[in-house]
Amino acid sequence: MSSPYLDLVRRRLVLYDGAMGTMLFQEGLLDGESPEPWNWEKPEVVTAIYKAYYDAGSDVVQTNTFGGTPIKLSERDLQDRTHEANLLAAQGARSVCPPGRFVAGDIGPIGKFLKPMGEFTKEEFTASFEAQVQGLADGGVDLISIETMYSLDETLCALDAAKRLTKLPVSVCMTFDRNPRGFFTLMGETPAHCMKLLKDHGADIVSSNCSHGSPVFLDLTRLLRDSTDLPLIVQPNRGRPTLEGGTVIYKQTAEEFVADMQTIAGLGADVIGGCCGTDPGFIADLHGGLRDRFSGDTPAPKRGGAEVRA
Ligand SMILES: [Zn+2]
Repeated sequence: MSSPYLDLVRRRLVLYDGAMGTMLFQEGLLDGESPEPWNWEKPEVVTAIYKAYYDAGSDVVQTNTFGGTPIKLSERDLQDRTHEANLLAAQGARSVCPPGRFVAGDIGPIGKFLKPMGEFTKEEFTASFEAQVQGLADGGVDLISIETMYSLDETLCALDAAKRLTKLPVSVCMTFDRNPRGFFTLMGETPAHCMKLLKDHGADIVSSNCSHGSPVFLDLTRLLRDSTDLPLIVQPNRGRPTLEGGTVIYKQTAEEFVADMQTIAGLGADVIGGCCGTDPGFIADLHGGLRDRFSGDTPAPKRGGAEVRA
């Protein structure tokens, strides 16, 4: 598939954004409060966050729609505003997106389980993701960004929905726990198995975000690079969070984060950014730390002999 976004990913290292939730909490979003209503209640705040990431050098900024499926929104009785929530978020990002940069329609997990663990069918999940994708596409996003997914079956519902309704490129990030036996999703799936199924279902860009800081992503990126020949997107958290007085605090310095991300780019990541705890300052430092790679003056390193495991 050809698209301006995929052309850029093939040409040089691409800079994603940092956290949205972290920024909204700084602006006064309360723990347990749904962020999507801010797309109509406080659009100027949300749009200012998008702009701060573009100003920091992000090539791609994701919409404030992490919980934008009707099933997730129904927890706040907002399911009837699904299209509006996604449309407004996409239009807001579009309005501050500079020429040559991109808006990614963000899709997070529904937060419920499929049968037999939960009460939902794959058809219900797919329909819920389709409703979100339609709003994002109508708002003019350049790509779909599925992220922080912990169930392969749910991820494939989202991916299939995006592929069925649009011709947009789809980036898919899963999140993996680490135990002594290796990395696994919450549902017990390995990274290699996930990467294979995502490719089979037409994902254009794959890999992982969240759950770990950049040091753990050094190992995870090697594993993922060896698992697929698709472009890789890597978005670690700002180190390991600590709990202080009931508040989650991220203490990793930008210096350490940037140094790890330089290594991760050298390992063959094609798109890099930050997840929980990172902010426009981190992204600006990341942009400065890999300036040559983002300018496109330095060719991307060869895929480190990565074999595709069928
Ligand atoms: Zn995160």
